[in-house]
Amino acid sequence: MSWRLECGACGRLAARPLATVCPDCGKPLLARYDLADLDGEALRRAWAARPAGMWRYREIMPLDPDEEPVTLGEGGTPLLELRLGGQFEDMTLLVKDEGLNPTGSFKDRGLCAAVTRAVHEGATDFVIPSAGNAGAALAAYAARAGASARLFIPEDTPEGVARRCEHYGADTTRVDGLIDECGRLSAEYAAETGAFNISTLKEPYRIEGKKTMMLEIVESLGWRPPDAIVYPTGGGTGLIGSHKTLSELRELRLIDGGTRLYAVQGSGCAPIVRAHAAGATHAEPWRDASTEAWGLRVPGALGDFLILEALRESGGGAVAVPDEAMMTAALELGAAGVGACIEGGATLAAARELRRSGELKDGETVVLFNTAHLLTY
Ligand SMILES: [Zn+2]
Repeated sequence: MSWRLECGACGRLAARPLATVCPDCGKPLLARYDLADLDGEALRRAWAARPAGMWRYREIMPLDPDEEPVTLGEGGTPLLELRLGGQFEDMTLLVKDEGLNPTGSFKDRGLCAAVTRAVHEGATDFVIPSAGNAGAALAAYAARAGASARLFIPEDTPEGVARRCEHYGADTTRVDGLIDECGRLSAEYAAETGAFNISTLKEPYRIEGKKTMMLEIVESLGWRPPDAIVYPTGGGTGLIGSHKTLSELRELRLIDGGTRLYAVQGSGCAPIVRAHAAGATHAEPWRDASTEAWGLRVPGALGDFLILEALRESGGGAVAVPDEAMMTAALELGAAGVGACIEGGATLAAARELRRSGELKDGETVVLFNTAHLLTY
């Protein structure tokens, strides 16, 4: 299958080899496939006959037919029904448990796709800023590809997280600052050494990996999109990817209709929630970001305009929840047998809010995302 790269903001086409961002406006590039040439029904049958995992969808993934992915068995994670009763009694509440990926988080999907593409285009050294899970994922996939990885992580990243990155053989630098400072240092390091900067939305393919979460959900539901998803939103690649998946599946005539996408952020760092409430098309960076959910501590996202577009076009919304509510909800998921991280808890806390406000209705099917395993904390 072939694809081209198109700027998500200005529409300019970009060359494929080791692509980063739009050469004109610096915004994220998106992979566009020639879907009109594909037979959706035939694809659906081919996908079902392959082993579970994100590469079963290879015809709409950034992989040429003669290439093999750099894989650790990512994807194919369970979609579990939650029976919590109470306000969820009259609806179907599901959780996509991404904690079962190779390094314990959804970051594996994005980095698997991005490392695969970059390695096929000649990259041998990678750099990334990370609050934790993306760093571990890059470290593992770079190791698998025989490439090197350099990570910049905030100094207050928990010790266990840093050790996890080092376990896979990555060089880890602790930075006195937040993720945006780590991002600046990564860009500098890439400019100085020629390492490939694989930061969120600084290259086009992490979105392609993340979009497979929604592909799996829709396939699990018998090619019916759920009514709503509730997604913990930091950099937002998964949300952007979900929106992209739904539009690709409509173009392939595999689904009708869509899914309302809801972003969840922490009350102490909610730039997307604020921008969505104001009807803005861009989000101003959040000052003095603070939340225990380090996956959500992203003061400014490069793909802010794509996230806001996805929320608006899908008829969804955005909710901020306080840390205490996230933690309580993570324990509630634990009591249901799901080893949820705090960001996973955030989705349940947000679903409670959305149910109270009447956004989630009787009879609907709603999917929460547990983005990482409890043990990654
Ligand atoms: Zn552009």
